[in-house]
Amino acid sequence: MKVLVTVKRVVDHNVKVRVKSGHSGVELDNVKMSINPFCEIAVEEAVRLKEKGIATEIVAVSVGPAAAQEQLRTALAIGADRAILVETAQMPGALGVAKLIKAVVEREAPQLVLLGKQAIDSDNNQTGQMLAALLNWPQGTFASAAEVDVAAQRVTVTREVDGGLQTVSLRLPAVVTADLRLNEPRYATLPSIMKAKKKPLETLAASAMGVAVETSLETLRVEPPAERKGGVKVTSVAQLVDKLKNEAKVI
Ligand code: AMP
Repeated sequence: MKVLVTVKRVVDHNVKVRVKSGHSGVELDNVKMSINPFCEIAVEEAVRLKEKGIATEIVAVSVGPAAAQEQLRTALAIGADRAILVETAQMPGALGVAKLIKAVVEREAPQLVLLGKQAIDSDNNQTGQMLAALLNWPQGTFASAAEVDVAAQRVTVTREVDGGLQTVSLRLPAVVTADLRLNEPRYATLPSIMKAKKKPLETLAASAMGVAVETSLETLRVEPPAERKGGVKVTSVAQLVDKLKNEAKVI
């Protein structure tokens, strides 16, 4: 079974993000970029499927600038077999990205597409859902467990929903998006990083894929979160109750 896994290049989660002076976005110059953490979990899941003998080939795909090759190399070091970069200088909106990934899916014909549930930069949480809709495939989002039954051509997905866990059974081919508790991704070892340098990485120009990616959405302004005020330590329950009642006015 071929598995396609998506990998987005984002600002590293340890970086304190700074908003650009014109409020048009966040500063990306000289900022450490990494693989989106939920995509790392998706790649790990694909590698575990291969280790179990379920997946036969893992193709990692990224839509982004040439520099996203770095993140694809990371996916190759974790265990993907080959990678495809859909190169575009300007990042399309989520629908554009979903359409480009759909074009790759149609070319590669995987049985399972694994994505992160969310990209930590845009926080859209919609690419997997849009891709499933465009492909007319079933989707299992927010997965905290996924069991593939190749003989039955189904995947059982445990979903983290507000009230607890929901288990769904999807017919393959299907789209699954990874939540935090799906697995703990391994660290790429030095030998695997060296090996990844020799794995195939193909680049396709987004403009040549025959996909309309113009967006109808415009970012008007980006603001940093409000500074948090420092807290105080109270010395008694009575003082706490007094502050909650008279200062915070929440009780
Ligand atoms: P989002 O809907 O933007 O929150 O992203 C959800 C997931 O879609 C991410 O975790 C990725 O797996 C995938 N995705 C989004 N944008 C891209 C991209 N430019 N390249 C590859 N995968 C992406």
